[in-house]
Amino acid sequence: MGKIAQIPGFTSCPSCNSVLQIDGTAIAFFLKSPANAFPCSSCKVNLNLFDVISKEVEKNFFFTTAYHIAGATSSVFTVTMNRGKLLSIDLKEYDVPATATVLEINYTPNGLLFPLEVHGNSPTRHSIRHKFELYPVSFQENPIEQAPLNMMVTWINVGDDDVALNHLIRAFRYYSSSNFLDAPADSQLNLPFAYENTVIPANVAIEMSLVPVVRKALARLGLASHADDKITYSHYLNLLLPLCCGRASAPLLPDAVRTQLNVLRKKRNEIGHSGKFDAAVSKNEMAKMLTGSLFGFHYCKLVLPSFELFS
Ligand SMILES: [Zn+2]
Repeated sequence: MGKIAQIPGFTSCPSCNSVLQIDGTAIAFFLKSPANAFPCSSCKVNLNLFDVISKEVEKNFFFTTAYHIAGATSSVFTVTMNRGKLLSIDLKEYDVPATATVLEINYTPNGLLFPLEVHGNSPTRHSIRHKFELYPVSFQENPIEQAPLNMMVTWINVGDDDVALNHLIRAFRYYSSSNFLDAPADSQLNLPFAYENTVIPANVAIEMSLVPVVRKALARLGLASHADDKITYSHYLNLLLPLCCGRASAPLLPDAVRTQLNVLRKKRNEIGHSGKFDAAVSKNEMAKMLTGSLFGFHYCKLVLPSFELFS
C-alpha cells in the first residue's frame, strides 16, 4: 500500500497567495474577533474571510473544495493497475472510517491505463460505496501492462445525533451535484433541482440550531412565549438574537452572514409557497447563501451556549 495523505480545507491568501487554512477553527476565530478581523498568517493583511470562503465555495475546485470547507477530508493515495485484472478497493485500507460518508472520488490515471468502475445491473448513482472494483483498460495500440492510479477520496464522518451538521452537509452535497447536471438550466426535468434542494437543508441547519436556544433564553428572561406562534424565524434571527447577544455580552452575528441567512430564508419561503424560486439563482448567489449557512452553523455552536449563562 502506498503512502496516504489527508488534505483538510485550504485556499490561498488573495493578498500574498500563501496557503490559508480554512476550517472551523479559522471561522471561529473570525466570528470571535473584534470587527471580524482575520489577518493572513503570512502577510498579516486583514482578510474578509466571508468573501474569501464564499469565492472558494463558488469555485469548488475538483468539485470538492466546498466539501473541505464544510469539514470534509480528502485521502490521497496511489494504487497499481494491471491491465485486464480486476482491482478491488476497500477504503478502510486507506484510513477512511467505516462510518464515514464518501462524498466524492477523483481518479487521476497517467494516461496509459484507465480505471473503469464495475457496477451491478442497477448502477448506483447517488451514493458511493466503501468497497468497489476497478477494471483497468488501455486505449493504446501497444498497451502497457501496469500503471499507477492516483486517487483522492473525499469523505466526512458525521454522527447521526448531529442533525444540524447532517443538514449542512446535505446542502453541500446538493450544491456539488450541480456540477454534473447536463440538462438545460430551465428544464423541469433538471433533476435533482440542485439549488432548490440546497436551500432547504442549508436553512434548516441554522433555524433548528438558533430558534430553540433563543426561545429558551427569552423564557428565562420572563419574556413568556404566549405570542410564540406569532414570532417567526425572521424575528428570532433579526431581532431576538441581537437582544440575547447584548444580554450575554456575546459577539453579534456578522452582518455579511445575517444578510445571506435572510436571502436563504426568503428563498426557502419561495419554495415553500410556490414550489420553485421566483427567479433563477446563480452559482454565485448560491455559494454566498451556503457560506452564510456555514458561518451561521459555526456561530450557533460557538456563541449560543453563552445564552445559558444569563437569566
Ligand atoms: Zn497573505
